[in-house]
Amino acid sequence: VIFVDRNRLSASGRSIQPDDAWFERAELAQEAANREGRGHKFREALFRDSSARAALHNLFHRKCAYCEVSIPSRSGWSIDHFRPKGRVAERKDHSGYYWLAYRWFNLYLACDDCNKHLYDTPTFEDPMSGPAGGKLDQFPLADETTRAMSPDDPLDLEQNLLLDPCADQPEEHLRYDVEGEILAKTGDDRGESTIRVLHLTRKRLRDNRRRTVAAVVKALRVLRTRADLGVNAGLDEISSYLEGQFFGDQCEHAGVARFVQSNPDLFGL
Ligand SMILES: [Zn+2]
Repeated sequence: VIFVDRNRLSASGRSIQPDDAWFERAELAQEAANREGRGHKFREALFRDSSARAALHNLFHRKCAYCEVSIPSRSGWSIDHFRPKGRVAERKDHSGYYWLAYRWFNLYLACDDCNKHLYDTPTFEDPMSGPAGGKLDQFPLADETTRAMSPDDPLDLEQNLLLDPCADQPEEHLRYDVEGEILAKTGDDRGESTIRVLHLTRKRLRDNRRRTVAAVVKALRVLRTRADLGVNAGLDEISSYLEGQFFGDQCEHAGVARFVQSNPDLFGL
């Protein structure tokens, strides 16, 4: 998980959002939802809309906003409602955040493994099935009395336990080990909850992160050897190459790569 600035500009300098037609339809749908409340039937076409999907895909660097797995194609992912629109797993008496169903700021790009509730299927090297997990309708709070129950309640008072990639700095809450395991920083409830809700311990993800750790360690070792030998030629090119391969926002699993970079002693460097 890394921070993504929702107001960032695209490579061509434009703000990254759906077209005006989508916002007009979304506004009408939102008014209907607010009027109808719990009985509102969600207009799924707005979540299948190619303009909205293209914008989300670009905004989140073609990666799942949560686990940072690469999502190269237009299919195989869903629009995730950060605050779930129709139901809240932690509160049976909650109608879901229907008043945020069509709000751009509540929409995230998420892979199926983070967004749905799926089993951690066996890999060739690890033939045991793991437990099921995934976000679905979960939105845990540290204090239920702070939960917004209606459109009139303020969202900013909610003590949200799920890290928000567009508002939080995830690296303040998460750490990783040499095996690619993701862990919360000591005593960090938000880190713990985020790992649990999004099922970030699943084995394919862990294996991906382990490969990233190994590659980053190798690259940093090369840099260190060069420095020890007093070789400075080409250093800028190498640094910019590594930024593009591992540490940049657009890189798959940049979160763990950056963690290795800023904590070299934990990885034998
Ligand atoms: Zn994901």
